[in-house]
Amino acid sequence: MEAVSAYIGLGSNLQSPVAQVESALVELAGLPHSRKVRASSLYRSAPMVAEGDLAAQPDYVNAVVLIETTLSPHQLLAQLQQLEQQHQRHRERRWGPRSLDLDLLLYGDATVVSSDLQVPHPGLCERNFVLIPLFEIAPDLRLPDNRALADIVSACSRAGLTAIPRGICG
Ligand code: ATP
Ligand code: CA
Ligand code: CA
Repeated sequence: MEAVSAYIGLGSNLQSPVAQVESALVELAGLPHSRKVRASSLYRSAPMVAEGDLAAQPDYVNAVVLIETTLSPHQLLAQLQQLEQQHQRHRERRWGPRSLDLDLLLYGDATVVSSDLQVPHPGLCERNFVLIPLFEIAPDLRLPDNRALADIVSACSRAGLTAIPRGICG
């Protein structure tokens, strides 16, 4: 089976988020039947707030990684969920704080619509903390609907998003 390029979005805003994301990048590189191709810088982003949710939460650290894999989309999702569990993710509310969130953003040119998996990830085109790191590692990417990522990024605000200089721990 030919390997597929899959992009995974990482997010953390609890328990040393930079360390959470950095260790998740190492773990993603070790996924079975997969190889890590490249990872973006780390970015700090303001949390998304769900309607009616007034509780403050810490900023997020985000990154995007490209892997090549022969896992199916659902097999890959299961692996991502297992890694989230290993990071002792306890999620109390939608978009609430979490130690590690792994979203399957893109799986080659595939479109997946099932009860537990949607690819491309539905939030992809609205979230600067996904678009900007994705663009950093894949400036020539086209989405399955053939739109150029560069066009989507050029229309997207960078508000609330800052790149974290390399070598900063926390
Ligand atoms: P959002 O999906 O808006 O970023 P979230 O990451 O907080 O929100 P989760 O609680 O992590 O949402 O995931 C809820 C469910 O979303 C998961 O149980 C999973 O089955 C489903 N899901 C659907 N599509 C995807 C995808 N592309 N990547 C990861 N999970 C997905
Ligand atoms: Ca998410
Ligand atoms: Ca998720």
